[in-house]
Amino acid sequence: MTGKKFQNRHIPAAAEEDSEDWTFLTPSQAVDAIAMDFTQYGPQPVLFASIAPLILGNRCTVIQEKEKPAVHILQGKAFIPVPDKNLGFYLIHMLETAPPDLETLAKICTQVFQTRTRAGPSGNKNISGIWVHSQMEAFVCSQCGQCCRSLAYENNCTAADYHLWQSLGRRDILAWVRKLSCPGKKDRYRIWVDPDTGKTAKTCPWLVPCPDSNRFSCAIQEIKPRICRQYPFTRKHAVMTGCRHTWR
Ligand code: SF4
Repeated sequence: MTGKKFQNRHIPAAAEEDSEDWTFLTPSQAVDAIAMDFTQYGPQPVLFASIAPLILGNRCTVIQEKEKPAVHILQGKAFIPVPDKNLGFYLIHMLETAPPDLETLAKICTQVFQTRTRAGPSGNKNISGIWVHSQMEAFVCSQCGQCCRSLAYENNCTAADYHLWQSLGRRDILAWVRKLSCPGKKDRYRIWVDPDTGKTAKTCPWLVPCPDSNRFSCAIQEIKPRICRQYPFTRKHAVMTGCRHTWR
Protein backbone atom coordinates (compact mmCIF):
# COMPACT_ATOMS: atom_id res chain seq x y z
CA MET A 1 0.00 0.00 0.00
CA THR A 2 2.38 2.56 -1.19
CA GLY A 3 1.83 5.68 -3.24
CA LYS A 4 -1.12 7.98 -3.49
CA LYS A 5 -3.73 5.67 -2.02
CA PHE A 6 -3.53 2.79 0.37
CA GLN A 7 -6.81 1.86 -1.14
CA ASN A 8 -9.85 -0.32 -0.56
CA ARG A 9 -13.49 0.44 -1.06
CA HIS A 10 -17.16 -0.44 -0.74
CA ILE A 11 -20.08 0.32 -3.10
CA PRO A 12 -21.27 -1.92 -5.95
CA ALA A 13 -18.86 -2.78 -8.75
CA ALA A 14 -18.99 -0.03 -11.33
CA ALA A 15 -19.82 -0.75 -14.94
CA GLU A 16 -16.74 1.12 -16.13
CA GLU A 17 -14.43 4.02 -15.49
CA ASP A 18 -13.18 6.63 -17.92
CA SER A 19 -10.46 7.93 -15.63
CA GLU A 20 -9.18 7.37 -12.15
CA ASP A 21 -11.65 9.96 -10.86
CA TRP A 22 -14.92 9.21 -12.70
CA THR A 23 -16.93 6.01 -12.28
CA PHE A 24 -19.98 5.11 -14.34
CA LEU A 25 -22.99 3.53 -12.62
CA THR A 26 -26.04 2.20 -14.37
CA PRO A 27 -29.29 3.55 -12.84
CA SER A 28 -29.78 0.32 -10.87
CA GLN A 29 -26.15 0.36 -9.70
CA ALA A 30 -26.64 3.97 -8.60
CA VAL A 31 -29.69 2.99 -6.55
CA ASP A 32 -27.76 0.03 -5.10
CA ALA A 33 -24.93 2.41 -4.16
CA ILE A 34 -27.40 4.77 -2.48
CA ALA A 35 -28.93 1.82 -0.59
CA MET A 36 -25.47 0.72 0.49
CA ASP A 37 -24.68 4.24 1.68
CA PHE A 38 -27.82 4.25 3.83
CA THR A 39 -27.05 0.77 5.18
CA GLN A 40 -23.43 1.56 5.86
CA TYR A 41 -23.83 4.94 7.52
CA GLY A 42 -27.26 4.60 9.12
CA PRO A 43 -29.96 7.31 9.27
CA GLN A 44 -28.80 10.67 7.88
CA PRO A 45 -31.65 13.11 8.70
CA VAL A 46 -30.20 16.17 6.95
CA LEU A 47 -29.44 14.18 3.81
CA PHE A 48 -32.86 12.49 3.83
CA ALA A 49 -34.55 15.89 4.14
CA SER A 50 -32.62 17.19 1.12
CA ILE A 51 -33.34 14.24 -1.18
CA ALA A 52 -36.89 13.34 -0.10
CA PRO A 53 -38.44 16.16 -2.20
CA LEU A 54 -36.42 14.97 -5.23
CA ILE A 55 -37.77 11.44 -4.80
CA LEU A 56 -41.28 12.10 -3.52
CA GLY A 57 -42.08 15.51 -5.01
CA ASN A 58 -45.14 17.10 -3.44
CA ARG A 59 -45.99 13.88 -1.61
CA CYS A 60 -43.66 15.01 1.15
CA THR A 61 -42.91 18.10 3.14
CA VAL A 62 -39.88 18.91 5.26
CA ILE A 63 -40.41 20.56 8.63
CA GLN A 64 -37.46 22.03 10.49
CA GLU A 65 -37.66 20.81 14.06
CA LYS A 66 -35.46 21.95 16.94
CA GLU A 67 -32.61 19.55 16.41
CA LYS A 68 -33.02 18.34 12.83
CA PRO A 69 -35.32 18.46 9.85
CA ALA A 70 -38.20 15.96 9.77
CA VAL A 71 -39.74 14.52 6.61
CA HIS A 72 -43.54 14.18 6.59
CA ILE A 73 -45.10 11.99 3.92
CA LEU A 74 -48.60 12.30 2.53
CA GLN A 75 -50.82 9.44 3.64
CA GLY A 76 -54.42 9.88 2.63
CA LYS A 77 -55.06 13.57 3.21
CA ALA A 78 -52.49 14.14 5.95
CA PHE A 79 -48.72 14.53 6.07
CA ILE A 80 -47.36 12.04 8.61
CA PRO A 81 -43.83 12.25 10.09
CA VAL A 82 -41.67 9.24 9.26
CA PRO A 83 -38.86 8.12 11.62
CA ASP A 84 -35.44 8.42 10.01
CA LYS A 85 -34.70 4.73 10.38
CA ASN A 86 -37.78 3.89 8.28
CA LEU A 87 -37.35 6.79 5.90
CA GLY A 88 -34.15 5.43 4.35
CA PHE A 89 -35.89 2.16 3.45
CA TYR A 90 -38.89 4.03 2.08
CA LEU A 91 -36.78 6.30 -0.12
CA ILE A 92 -34.90 3.31 -1.55
CA HIS A 93 -38.19 1.52 -2.15
CA MET A 94 -39.46 4.52 -4.09
CA LEU A 95 -36.24 4.79 -6.11
CA GLU A 96 -36.64 1.14 -7.08
CA THR A 97 -40.33 1.17 -7.83
CA ALA A 98 -40.70 4.66 -9.34
CA PRO A 99 -37.24 5.54 -10.67
CA PRO A 100 -36.68 9.27 -11.26
CA ASP A 101 -35.32 10.62 -14.53
CA LEU A 102 -31.54 10.50 -14.87
CA GLU A 103 -31.00 14.20 -14.20
CA THR A 104 -32.87 13.89 -10.91
CA LEU A 105 -31.03 10.68 -10.03
CA ALA A 106 -27.73 12.50 -10.63
CA LYS A 107 -28.84 15.28 -8.25
CA ILE A 108 -29.70 12.66 -5.64
CA CYS A 109 -26.30 10.98 -6.10
CA THR A 110 -24.58 14.35 -5.68
CA GLN A 111 -26.31 14.80 -2.32
CA VAL A 112 -25.74 11.24 -1.15
CA PHE A 113 -22.09 10.87 -2.19
CA GLN A 114 -21.23 14.56 -1.60
CA THR A 115 -19.52 14.80 -4.92
CA ARG A 116 -19.99 15.93 -8.51
CA THR A 117 -22.07 13.71 -10.77
CA ARG A 118 -23.45 13.92 -14.28
CA ALA A 119 -26.08 11.97 -16.19
CA GLY A 120 -25.01 10.63 -19.55
CA PRO A 121 -24.14 7.66 -21.70
CA SER A 122 -21.55 5.10 -20.67
CA GLY A 123 -18.12 5.13 -22.33
CA ASN A 124 -19.25 2.65 -24.97
CA LYS A 125 -22.60 4.49 -25.32
CA ASN A 126 -24.49 1.24 -24.61
CA ILE A 127 -26.52 2.58 -21.73
CA SER A 128 -27.22 5.84 -19.97
CA GLY A 129 -26.50 6.27 -16.30
CA ILE A 130 -24.66 8.37 -13.78
CA TRP A 131 -21.00 9.36 -13.78
CA VAL A 132 -19.76 9.87 -10.21
CA HIS A 133 -16.63 11.88 -9.49
CA SER A 134 -14.55 10.64 -6.59
CA GLN A 135 -13.05 14.06 -5.73
CA MET A 136 -10.02 12.09 -4.69
CA GLU A 137 -7.38 13.88 -6.78
CA ALA A 138 -6.01 15.64 -3.69
CA PHE A 139 -6.20 12.55 -1.48
CA VAL A 140 -3.00 11.47 0.23
CA CYS A 141 -2.92 8.13 2.00
CA SER A 142 -0.99 8.19 5.27
CA GLN A 143 -0.43 4.42 5.08
CA CYS A 144 -1.84 4.01 8.57
CA GLY A 145 -3.32 0.60 7.70
CA GLN A 146 -6.61 1.41 9.44
CA CYS A 147 -8.67 0.37 6.42
CA CYS A 148 -6.91 -2.99 6.20
CA ARG A 149 -7.79 -3.72 9.79
CA SER A 150 -11.32 -2.47 10.03
CA LEU A 151 -13.25 -2.71 6.77
CA ALA A 152 -15.34 -5.82 6.36
CA TYR A 153 -14.57 -6.63 2.74
CA GLU A 154 -14.51 -10.38 3.04
CA ASN A 155 -17.44 -10.83 0.64
CA ASN A 156 -16.29 -8.29 -1.93
CA CYS A 157 -13.72 -10.33 -3.84
CA THR A 158 -14.68 -10.56 -7.52
CA ALA A 159 -14.31 -13.38 -10.04
CA ALA A 160 -11.89 -11.08 -11.91
CA ASP A 161 -9.68 -10.83 -8.81
CA TYR A 162 -9.71 -14.59 -8.40
CA HIS A 163 -8.94 -15.29 -12.07
CA LEU A 164 -6.11 -12.76 -12.07
CA TRP A 165 -4.43 -14.55 -9.18
CA GLN A 166 -5.04 -17.87 -10.92
CA SER A 167 -3.48 -16.62 -14.17
CA LEU A 168 -0.44 -15.40 -12.26
CA GLY A 169 -0.12 -18.69 -10.42
CA ARG A 170 -0.37 -16.91 -7.06
CA ARG A 171 -1.13 -19.95 -4.96
CA ASP A 172 0.00 -18.03 -1.88
CA ILE A 173 -2.90 -15.60 -2.37
CA LEU A 174 -5.40 -18.25 -3.47
CA ALA A 175 -4.67 -20.19 -0.29
CA TRP A 176 -6.46 -17.37 1.57
CA VAL A 177 -9.50 -17.35 -0.73
CA ARG A 178 -12.55 -19.57 -0.19
CA LYS A 179 -14.54 -20.28 -3.36
CA LEU A 180 -18.24 -20.69 -2.61
CA SER A 181 -20.15 -22.60 -5.29
CA CYS A 182 -23.90 -23.10 -5.33
CA PRO A 183 -25.69 -24.91 -8.22
CA GLY A 184 -27.45 -22.44 -10.53
CA LYS A 185 -25.73 -19.44 -8.99
CA LYS A 186 -22.54 -17.56 -9.73
CA ASP A 187 -19.50 -18.57 -7.74
CA ARG A 188 -18.65 -16.25 -4.86
CA TYR A 189 -15.28 -15.72 -3.27
CA ARG A 190 -14.47 -14.98 0.36
CA ILE A 191 -11.24 -13.32 1.45
CA TRP A 192 -9.09 -13.59 3.59
CA VAL A 193 -9.78 -17.00 5.10
CA ASP A 194 -6.90 -18.29 7.20
CA PRO A 195 -5.86 -21.60 5.60
CA ASP A 196 -4.85 -22.98 8.99
CA THR A 197 -7.90 -22.07 11.03
CA GLY A 198 -10.60 -21.65 8.34
CA LYS A 199 -11.58 -18.35 9.99
CA THR A 200 -11.73 -14.96 8.30
CA ALA A 201 -8.68 -12.93 9.26
CA LYS A 202 -9.43 -9.78 11.29
CA THR A 203 -6.48 -7.96 9.72
CA CYS A 204 -5.54 -8.29 6.08
CA PRO A 205 -2.72 -10.86 5.90
CA TRP A 206 -0.91 -8.80 3.25
CA LEU A 207 -0.46 -5.80 5.53
CA VAL A 208 3.24 -5.31 6.17
CA PRO A 209 4.79 -2.86 8.68
CA CYS A 210 7.32 -0.49 7.12
CA PRO A 211 10.66 -0.60 8.95
CA ASP A 212 11.43 2.29 11.32
CA SER A 213 8.06 3.98 10.94
CA ASN A 214 4.47 3.57 11.97
CA ARG A 215 3.40 3.12 8.38
CA PHE A 216 2.32 0.00 6.57
CA SER A 217 2.52 -1.28 3.03
CA CYS A 218 0.59 -3.87 1.02
CA ALA A 219 2.49 -7.01 0.03
CA ILE A 220 0.22 -7.47 -3.02
CA GLN A 221 -0.14 -3.79 -3.93
CA GLU A 222 -0.20 -4.25 -7.72
CA ILE A 223 -2.70 -7.10 -7.70
CA LYS A 224 -4.77 -6.44 -4.61
CA PRO A 225 -8.54 -6.91 -4.88
CA ARG A 226 -10.44 -4.32 -6.86
CA ILE A 227 -12.39 -3.34 -3.76
CA CYS A 228 -9.08 -2.41 -2.10
CA ARG A 229 -7.82 -0.48 -5.12
CA GLN A 230 -10.94 1.64 -5.14
CA TYR A 231 -10.99 2.58 -1.47
CA PRO A 232 -12.01 5.22 -0.56
CA PHE A 233 -14.56 5.77 -3.30
CA THR A 234 -15.36 9.37 -2.42
CA ARG A 235 -14.43 11.97 0.16
CA LYS A 236 -17.60 11.07 2.03
CA HIS A 237 -16.60 7.43 2.04
CA ALA A 238 -13.16 8.34 3.42
CA VAL A 239 -14.65 10.53 6.16
CA MET A 240 -17.43 8.13 7.11
CA THR A 241 -15.13 5.09 7.34
CA GLY A 242 -12.52 6.77 9.53
CA CYS A 243 -9.80 7.02 6.90
CA ARG A 244 -6.81 8.90 8.36
CA HIS A 245 -5.80 10.51 5.09
CA THR A 246 -4.64 14.05 4.43
CA TRP A 247 -5.33 16.34 1.49
CA ARG A 248 -2.68 17.82 -0.76
S1 SF4 B 1 -7.31 4.38 6.37
FE1 SF4 B 1 -5.11 4.92 6.43
S2 SF4 B 1 -4.13 3.40 5.09
FE2 SF4 B 1 -6.32 3.30 4.63
S3 SF4 B 1 -6.57 4.71 2.88
FE3 SF4 B 1 -6.98 5.92 4.75
S4 SF4 B 1 -4.99 6.87 5.29
FE4 SF4 B 1 -4.57 5.20 3.81
